[in-house]
Amino acid sequence: MERERLEGTPTKYWHVLDDGRIQCDMCPRYCKLKEGQRGLCFVRGRQDDQIVLTTYGRSSGFCIDPIEKKPLNHFLPGSSVLSFGTAGCNLACKFCQNWDMSKSRQMDTLADSASPEEIAAAAERMGAKSVAFTYNDPVIFHEYAIDIADACHARGVNAVAVSAGYVCPEPRTEFYAHMDAANIDLKAFTERFYKKLTGSSLAAVLDTLQYLRHETNVWFEITTLLIPGENDGDAEIHELVDWVRENLGVDVPLHFTAFHPDFKMMDYPHTPPETLARARRIALDSGIRYAYTGNTFDKAGQSTYCHQCGERLIGRDWYELSEWNLSDDGHCLSCGTRCAGVFAGEPGHWGRRREPVRMAARS
Ligand code: SF4
Repeated sequence: MERERLEGTPTKYWHVLDDGRIQCDMCPRYCKLKEGQRGLCFVRGRQDDQIVLTTYGRSSGFCIDPIEKKPLNHFLPGSSVLSFGTAGCNLACKFCQNWDMSKSRQMDTLADSASPEEIAAAAERMGAKSVAFTYNDPVIFHEYAIDIADACHARGVNAVAVSAGYVCPEPRTEFYAHMDAANIDLKAFTERFYKKLTGSSLAAVLDTLQYLRHETNVWFEITTLLIPGENDGDAEIHELVDWVRENLGVDVPLHFTAFHPDFKMMDYPHTPPETLARARRIALDSGIRYAYTGNTFDKAGQSTYCHQCGERLIGRDWYELSEWNLSDDGHCLSCGTRCAGVFAGEPGHWGRRREPVRMAARS
């Protein structure tokens, strides 16, 4: 059978095996490929005896939304971010909440094409403080994401990665040298969950979190989607928050977000709001300073409080900011204690709006 020819951008994280196959060394799946084969992520594959990226310059759509939606609550709060993704993913989450893009094998999903320079210029023009690689995991479009980050930095725009953290150490080092902030999914705290429901491994993700905390200056927050009956038990949440506190410290914000039935897990219920509140309480009681609920209306659980005096520093409800009791450099106006994060003067006022952006109409 004749294989399709893979058109793409050359990449560098791979090596040739003794049996002639080429191993992709971008993520711990280590796909071993024959000529013309694609990896599990579908967008990296072997062509002309190297691994190429087939989605460089191609996106599944752009929109401007609040940074709180990534979610990042301590990185330029209230600011807007130009968000986009490509096709494919290196995980195989049965509960994927973006599966139309991440599982796409149709390149017509990639409706928009844009160079790094065009994306950076659009972000600047629209007043976005950051560009976010989201919807699917930027690990698989590493080269494109890095070039975009560089183009953004040249215009004073930040680069934000939303990732599952399932990536090999060498490309990880290169990638995060170009990022300003990240949200990492910590999908659960058992290898059983990771293996059964994501096809990946917990250990590799924990390694990425340790790396970010101890070897970079990237601001990062953690998100755990709580799925009823799978990862929402008290014991597992206790283990997760204890690990975070002991290995990453008390200042890394945790987001517990609500699952909705999707993709291959349509027979699961929505996460009850009480489950999110319970997880947040466990985190706060264990000493984590900033814990949030997400994908629900819960002002008490989504606002930021001073860990010293309890003052509400940032009132927040479903991405919309209300109270603001921080100095320009992030100190509590009541007691002067510093709030962890990246703050620069007044908060943004983007609100919860989501505005699609057509790159094709840029000129
Ligand atoms: S990035 Fe894609 S091709 Fe490379 S190892 Fe991971 S899933 Fe396989």
